[in-house]
Amino acid sequence: MSQDPNCIFCKIAEGKIPSRKVYEDDEILAFHDIQPWAPVHFLLIPKQHITSFAHVEESHAPLLGKMMSLVPRLAQQEGCRPYPEGGFRLVCNTGDDGGQEVRHLHFHVIGGPRPWRKG
Ligand code: AMP
Ligand code: ZN
Repeated sequence: MSQDPNCIFCKIAEGKIPSRKVYEDDEILAFHDIQPWAPVHFLLIPKQHITSFAHVEESHAPLLGKMMSLVPRLAQQEGCRPYPEGGFRLVCNTGDDGGQEVRHLHFHVIGGPRPWRKG
C-alpha cells in the first residue's frame, strides 16, 4: 500500500501514532478528530496515501464508494440522531482555498445536537 513517511494520517493508518478508532478494515480507517467541533466529529480516511480529493482518479471509485456507504452507519453508531431531525455534515477540505491542513484525503463526519463550536 502506498504511504508517505512524512504524513501524519499515514502514520495513524499504520498505528505509529495512536488514534481513537471508530472503524477499521484493510483499506479504511475512521478515528475521532483530536479537536472536535461538535458532539460527534470523526475522520474517515483511506489507508493508502491519497493527497487530497483533487488527486482522486477513476481507479479510486470502489474505495470511495465503500467509504461513502460507511458514513450513515458510522454516524449513527457514534451518536448522530436519526434523519431528518438529526443527520450529520460531511466535509472534505481540499487544497489551500478549501482549507485543507492535513495533506491526506479525509472526510469529516460532524453531527450531534447543536450548538456546535464551529459550523
Ligand atoms: P483539515 O485538513 O483542515 O480538513 O483538517 C484536519 C483535521 O485533522 C483537523 O480537524 C484536526 O483537528 C485533525 N487532526 C490533526 N491531527 C490529528 C490527530 N493526530 N488525530 C486526530 N485528528 C487530528
Ligand atoms: Zn498519508
